Amino acid sequence: MGHEVWRNWGRNQSSTPREVAVPVTVEAVARIVERAVDDGRTVKAVGAGHSFTAAAVTDDIQVRLDHLSGVRSVDEATALVTVGAGTPLHVLNAELEARGLSMRNLGDIDAQTIAGAISTGTHGTGANLGGIATQVRGLQLVLADGSVAEVSEQSDPELFQAARVGIGAFGIVTAVTLECDPLFQLTAVEQPMPLGEVLDSFDDLADGNEHFEFYWFPHTDVALTKRNNRPNPGEAGKRLPGWREWVDDELLSNGVFEVVQRVAYRRPTAIPGFNRISARALSARTFTDVSHRVFVSPRRVRFREMEYAVPRENLVDVFREVRSWIERSGAVVSFPVEVRVAAADDIWLSTASGRASGYLAVHQWHRVDFEPYFRAVEAIATEVDGRPHWGKLHWLDADALRQRYPHFDNAMSVRDRVDPGRVFGNAYTKQVFGS
Ligand SMILES: Cc1cc2nc3c(=O)[nH]c(=O)nc-3n(C[C@H](O)[C@H](O)[C@H](O)COP(=O)(O)OP(=O)(O)OC[C@H]3O[C@@H](n4cnc5c(N)ncnc54)[C@H](O)[C@@H]3O)c2cc1C
Repeated sequence: MGHEVWRNWGRNQSSTPREVAVPVTVEAVARIVERAVDDGRTVKAVGAGHSFTAAAVTDDIQVRLDHLSGVRSVDEATALVTVGAGTPLHVLNAELEARGLSMRNLGDIDAQTIAGAISTGTHGTGANLGGIATQVRGLQLVLADGSVAEVSEQSDPELFQAARVGIGAFGIVTAVTLECDPLFQLTAVEQPMPLGEVLDSFDDLADGNEHFEFYWFPHTDVALTKRNNRPNPGEAGKRLPGWREWVDDELLSNGVFEVVQRVAYRRPTAIPGFNRISARALSARTFTDVSHRVFVSPRRVRFREMEYAVPRENLVDVFREVRSWIERSGAVVSFPVEVRVAAADDIWLSTASGRASGYLAVHQWHRVDFEPYFRAVEAIATEVDGRPHWGKLHWLDADALRQRYPHFDNAMSVRDRVDPGRVFGNAYTKQVFGS
C-alpha cells in the first residue's frame, strides 16, 4: 500500500513511499528484495524513525520489520541472545531482564529498534566501553540477490565488519545476535558542578567512572554531571521514589522544559536566564536501579541534534571552542550540550573506529533554525577530524568522510560486492558513500 506520508521523530525528514511492506517472515523479506530487483526498484528498511538524517528515507519501497521482534534464542552458556531486527530497545531490555541478562551499555532512550540503533552507530557513554554494535556477534541479512546470509566474524569477516554499522546499505538485517552481560544494577550519582571544574578534571571523571557524561547549559557556568557505576556487591541502593522520578523526568525535563522552549522561541533574550534556572532546578540525586532504567530517560520535547565524535584527547578543547563560538556569535541556545566518551573499537564505520573518542552533541528545539550553530560546531570538529554520528545532522559527503575513516574504502568494496546495483541505496547513501 503506501502513499502515506512518513516522518521521522525530529520532523525534519519526510517522504511518501510508493509501497510500504510489513513482512512477517524472513522469507517474505527476501521475496520483497527479489521483486524489487526484478522491477528495478530500491528498498529501504526503516526502524523507529529516530534518525535526524535522511538515513531511513525512501520514496520507493519501505520495509518495516515490526513483526520481526522479540528474542528468538538464548545461549545461556555464552550469554549470546538472538533477537528480531525490528525489536525496539525497550522490548529488548525487558526481555533480557526477564532472562537475567542485560545490554552492556545504552544511549539515552529506548525507542529505537536494535537494527536501526546498530546501523547508525548508536552509543552511550563509558571510557572502556563501545557503542551498541560492539556487542554484535552475528547478523542475519537479506542480501541484494534475495539470499539470506548468517554473517559473523567467522563466516564473512568483511561483510560482518561493514554491516554492523552499515547505514542500511549492505542488506536488510532480519536478526541480530548480541553478546549480553548478566543482569546488573547501576548506582547513578547526578550532580551539578561548576563547568570549569568538570573541564579541568575531565579525564579523571571519564576514566574514574564506568559511565560518565555531562550536560552543559549554554550561557551558564554549570554542568550537570552523571556518574553511573555498578554498586559494590551487597551494597543496597534505593530506587527513586515514584514522585521524584515524575518531578525530575516528566515535569522538569519534559513538561516544564517544553513550556520554556515555547516561551524562549518568542523571547530568545530570555534563554540565558532560563538556562540558569534549569541548571539550578536539576538538583543532585542518587539512586540505584536495574541498568536500563538508569541509562534511559524519557525525551518528549522535540529537538534536532548534531553529534560529533572527536579524538578523546581533543574533546575538552573542542568543547571550549564551541562554548566560545556561542559567546562570540551572540547565538542563543536553549538546549544543553551533551558530552560523552567511548573506547576505541575496530568496526570500520563506527565513529569510534580505531580511536578512543569523545562525543559532543548539540541540540536545538524543533522550531528553531539549527543551521548556523550546527555548521559552526561542524567546522570546529572538522579541525580535529571529527566524525559525525550517522543518524544525526551533518553536511559531510563521501570525500570528506573517506578522509576520516581509514577503512572507508574497504567498506565500499564490500558494498560493490554485495549490492552492486544499489538496491539498498537512497539519497543519504549517495551523500555519505558517493553512490
Ligand atoms: C530523542 C533521541 C535520542 C537519541 N539518543 C541517542 C543516544 O543517546 N545515542 C546515540 O548514539 N544516538 C541517539 N539517537 C539517535 C538514534 O539512536 C539513531 O538515529 C538510531 O539509528 C535510530 O534508530 P531507529 O530504529 O529509529 O532507526 P531509523 O532511524 O529508522 O533508521 C536508521 C538507519 O538504520 C537502517 N535500518 C533500520 N532498520 C534496518 C534493518 N532491519 N536492516 C538494515 N538497515 C536498517 C535505516 O535504513 C537507516 O539507515 C537519539 C535519537 C533521538 C530522536
